[in-house]
Amino acid sequence: MNSPQVFTLLGRAGCGKGTQAKLLTEKFGLTYIGSGEILRAISKEENFNGKKIKETISQGKLAPTFLIFQQWVNQLGKIKLADDKNFKGILFDGSPRKLIEAQMMEEAMVWYEWDKNFKAILVDISREEAFGRLTKRRQCKDCGQLIPYVGDYKNLEKCDKCGGELVVRQDDTPEAINLRLDLFDQEVMPVVEFFEKRGYLIKINGEQPIEKVFEEILSKI
Ligand SMILES: [Zn+2]
Repeated sequence: MNSPQVFTLLGRAGCGKGTQAKLLTEKFGLTYIGSGEILRAISKEENFNGKKIKETISQGKLAPTFLIFQQWVNQLGKIKLADDKNFKGILFDGSPRKLIEAQMMEEAMVWYEWDKNFKAILVDISREEAFGRLTKRRQCKDCGQLIPYVGDYKNLEKCDKCGGELVVRQDDTPEAINLRLDLFDQEVMPVVEFFEKRGYLIKINGEQPIEKVFEEILSKI
């Protein structure tokens, strides 16, 4: 493997990419750049952006591309300038969510001279599988941890982090889940096709136990 490595994880909600992101970050000592963290940071800014992002998040809407990219372009510029010998690479979580973001991400990879080391990892599960997992997944009432409906997690009786009670999420209704899955088919599938055409895509079977998914990723990157 060439160093540094830059990865982004794609997949339908419920595919377990959060877990795989954690495993990959730990295994290779990657720098984690998550859209969720970026949005939370913007929402703390005392200006128009901060105010409006707070509203956007609370209404469950998507944040605009340029704001997210502005944040991570700042971060990437600092990383490149530091030229840290311990820098192992980056893992993007939650981006890109639409075609224009994928195109911008490729442009950025070329700009930062990481395009030869860039891989988009699709943790592939069918729409039916995603629907089944999302209707059955639970959340800790106390710490908010999401408990996926896969492997040993299915039998978990209490939160494995804090011991809190596990409940089905209010917003995991069949209608809301179908909307989320529609959004993937309409917006993220073009991203997957774009990365495939450009030679960046690695496709992983997400319908197997967590360890097997991770093994398959390691064998293909
Ligand atoms: Zn908990």
